[in-house]
Amino acid sequence: MEFNEFDFHPTVAAGVKAAGYLTPTPIQSQAIPAVLKGSDVMGLAQTGTGKTAAFVLPILNRLMQGPRGHVRALVIAPTRELAEQTHETIKILGKQTRLKSITVYGGVSIKPQIQKLGTGVEIVVACPGRLLDHINQRTINLSKIEVLVLDEADRMFDMGFLPDIKKIIKQVPAKRQTLMFSATMPDDIRRLAHEVLHTPVTVQVDHAAPASTVAHALYPVDQHLKTALLLELLRHTDTDSVLVFTRTKHRARRVGEQLVRSGYRAVSLQGNLTQNKRQEALDGFRKGAYQVLVATDIAARGIDVSSISHVINYDMPDTADAYTHRIGRTGRAAKTGDAFTFITREDDDMVRAIERVLGVKVERRLLESFDYKKPSPSRDTEFARPPREPQRRREHTAAQKPKGYNAGRTEKRKPVTAEDKKTLQKNFASRRFTWSTANNSRTHNPVA
Ligand code: AMP
Repeated sequence: MEFNEFDFHPTVAAGVKAAGYLTPTPIQSQAIPAVLKGSDVMGLAQTGTGKTAAFVLPILNRLMQGPRGHVRALVIAPTRELAEQTHETIKILGKQTRLKSITVYGGVSIKPQIQKLGTGVEIVVACPGRLLDHINQRTINLSKIEVLVLDEADRMFDMGFLPDIKKIIKQVPAKRQTLMFSATMPDDIRRLAHEVLHTPVTVQVDHAAPASTVAHALYPVDQHLKTALLLELLRHTDTDSVLVFTRTKHRARRVGEQLVRSGYRAVSLQGNLTQNKRQEALDGFRKGAYQVLVATDIAARGIDVSSISHVINYDMPDTADAYTHRIGRTGRAAKTGDAFTFITREDDDMVRAIERVLGVKVERRLLESFDYKKPSPSRDTEFARPPREPQRRREHTAAQKPKGYNAGRTEKRKPVTAEDKKTLQKNFASRRFTWSTANNSRTHNPVA
């Protein structure tokens, strides 16, 4: 299929050309005709497949007809980064359309958003929380929405946004076109799709398996040697764009700092940063000022840097889906990429889950030049936190209570296993306390 077969309005066709797209990706070939016809669409596609343009192009085309100056299309995204990314795509593809798009998300002042909304925009790309603030303050009017897009619906569900989304949908006209995109189709998403989509056309590419342009490898290593192995791998890797994933914000920050200390142009991206700092880190990485970006899963949502050549999982993700999402950052749109994952003994189950999704056994690699025998230090100086000041217990008032069942959640902690408990009991008996979970180990000797 070719782009000219869609018969886009000339200004939209010009956007395709400006973006440098030559042929539609599979999700675009399948979804664009259905969206152009006005059908509801359920798109099963992960990031990196071209799914954004698959809904942006037909929406721009539709908006070329009809009135201007009020919100006609609403895209809901789980994170600010994804919202910004989608907005950027709209700006590039819609440059000649003179349609106006803005982003709406929290963590930044609401006033400029209110001002821009007042100037009459046609497209809003929003995260659920701040959008609800605007709805409650009546600073946005959604009564003339023609198209609603729920992007990365599974991730929004994971982040506890479902109640917010249901409230938002109540504010949007019932007569509308709804497009929903999700990398996976768990039961909750199926139920949501059933509620919000009317006789949808389902389009699906590469169900939950990472792009085939990515080569995968596993690096078995002891927990305490991960940073040394990362440095050794980077030394052997000829690349300007590496994305490293850690399990927690604290670990992202620490690993980032150690890379900088070792002379790399590295930066970490984690939820504790202000929006300005996050944007600065992302822009720096995109433009090549930073060679390595260390991030957590949540912080990395929506990162679209087409030149990422390597994704390195410093810590194993919690689910095979999270693996797919992480790996979706490399090998985008037919470029090739490498996905390296550090595995410890505790990761065996997850390795099996990932191999099931990929449908192949993943190669285990050892670096010849690396000293795998180096003993573990008696104290964890790498990730140990300084002792905390005693804190007063914080209680949420009803007004402060986080929305959603896991709102405010940052990273999951691995459950304590029977083996952990045994170690605890043994060490407690000898008054030496060592707690070791899958991805973390701390030692505290109350006697020393
Ligand atoms: P997405 O899955 O929407 O995050 O897109 C992944 C990447 O593919 C982005 O960098 C897009 O600019 C790029 N892309 C989208 N459609 C095409 C296309 N038809 N040809 C080449 N690149 C594309």
